[in-house]
Amino acid sequence: MPEHSSADPSSFAPVVIGAGPAGLTAAYQLHKHGVSSTILEADKVVGGISRTVERDGWRFDIGGHRFFTKVKPVEELWHEILPDEDFLMRPRKSRIYYQGKYYDYPLKAFNALGNLGILEAFRCVGSYAWARVRPPKDQNNYEGWLVARFGWRLYRTFFETYTEKVWGMKVADMPADWAAQRVKNLSLMNAITNAILPKRNQKDITSLIEEFQYPKLGPGMMWERCRDLVVAKGSTVAMNTRVEQVKHRDGKAIAVLARDADGHLVEHPCSHVVSSMPIPHLLKAMSPQPPAEVLAAADGLKFRDFLTVALVVPEASGFPDNWIYIHDPNVEVGRIQNFGSWSPYLVKDGRTCLGLEYFVDEGDRLWNSADEDLVAQGTRELAALGLSQPSDVESGYVVRMPKAYPIYDYTYKSNVDVLRGWLAEHASNVYPVGRNGMHKYNNQDHSMYTAMLSVENMLGASHDIWSVNVEEEYHEEAKG
Ligand SMILES: Cc1cc2nc3c(=O)[nH]c(=O)nc-3n(C[C@H](O)[C@H](O)[C@H](O)COP(=O)(O)OP(=O)(O)OC[C@H]3O[C@@H](n4cnc5c(N)ncnc54)[C@H](O)[C@@H]3O)c2cc1C
Repeated sequence: MPEHSSADPSSFAPVVIGAGPAGLTAAYQLHKHGVSSTILEADKVVGGISRTVERDGWRFDIGGHRFFTKVKPVEELWHEILPDEDFLMRPRKSRIYYQGKYYDYPLKAFNALGNLGILEAFRCVGSYAWARVRPPKDQNNYEGWLVARFGWRLYRTFFETYTEKVWGMKVADMPADWAAQRVKNLSLMNAITNAILPKRNQKDITSLIEEFQYPKLGPGMMWERCRDLVVAKGSTVAMNTRVEQVKHRDGKAIAVLARDADGHLVEHPCSHVVSSMPIPHLLKAMSPQPPAEVLAAADGLKFRDFLTVALVVPEASGFPDNWIYIHDPNVEVGRIQNFGSWSPYLVKDGRTCLGLEYFVDEGDRLWNSADEDLVAQGTRELAALGLSQPSDVESGYVVRMPKAYPIYDYTYKSNVDVLRGWLAEHASNVYPVGRNGMHKYNNQDHSMYTAMLSVENMLGASHDIWSVNVEEEYHEEAKG
């Protein structure tokens, strides 16, 4: 925290939008300066994307949230919020399923060679050599960027189908600067070195770490506890309360208007606003409204949505991995979690729960499918992959998560710049934080860190929160 605060926190009346990791972290940090916040949360549970969903005593994680960070203040904060006995240290195991075979991930030399076969391995090396001689002309798109580093054959085996499942677009239509941020040190040579010397670089890159921390009852446990702590200190957390307007005047936000659980629009006067709601929604909620070109930039920001079909099966029908990437184009499922491998406290005796993850667009065919149809599809796809028999599936649940991924397309950067510029000029006491709050591919640690730094900025520091996580490689599905 800054040694000499230039602002007087006793006059602060902050409104925090969203009770996910970023919003709750901001409120928690503000209490260190004696400041209570009003936290407005649209949903009925805290934790945002990092929540734990509970149905009939089963607990699901949206994805699988590894607690791993290189940011020391975040690591310390996790342990300040949650007692050590509530953390588990979990071994990491994951594989890639492709053409009926399981490839260890991170790749291991013998396993990869055994699966590919000597002939295909030679073809891959030849294809790589060819790509070195004749690299794709256009490496500004992600496909060209990857092919230049791996050759066409390896690209098709390990990148193409999964990337297209996650993002719902052709790899060639994705900008390469996205890759340069996410997997910038990736190349065949690095992959081979890591495969031969598996201990090398461990803990440097999340995709290579062999163990991680995990709260016993899933990631939501951290945020439920954080909510309890801030409420005990005097903050209020209003659930089922969606922010609809942010009034501003003379370059500052003056009040936040939110629709409460009873449907009433309630005005909350504010000295500061910490916003983890999606930044395009924030700009569209500003009153008076920004000009048309700013609203157009807000409309230009896109998201990818996500749903999990959680199937309860006997423990013996599970698998030892935390998750398996499904590169097979014949099924729509993109990744399968075994929640029992994450924590025995998420599942019940003798049974486990497999979370089949589908990357979707809100309103598309899968998103709109009835839950029972999705459970039936998940059951069929599990059997098609040889992972378990339909008769093993005892019950199923569907969890939908809109706006799971901010999309990095060719225009997102310039759109974000337009929104930032407008906020700086017209509402300089509004602090966008977190993942969708900044339209940035932030994990929990960076989402939290932007909130921590924003609180310091309120007190007079001048951190550039937009530079947090510009060059980190470790993300939940950055792999290769
Ligand atoms: C599949 C998947 C796997 C992941 N794996 C990991 C991992 O292994 N490790 C890791 O650290 N991170 C992981 N993440 C990232 C992590 O989930 C996010 O970084 C984190 O949840 C972002 O926190 P946030 O507070 O910025 O946003 P969110 O979690 O999105 O929370 C924002 C909150 O704001 C609320 N809100 C939105 N609009 C409004 C409104 N108008 N009014 C009031 N409230 C509103 C939302 O309901 C939500 O509760 C993963 C994400 C996904 C999708």
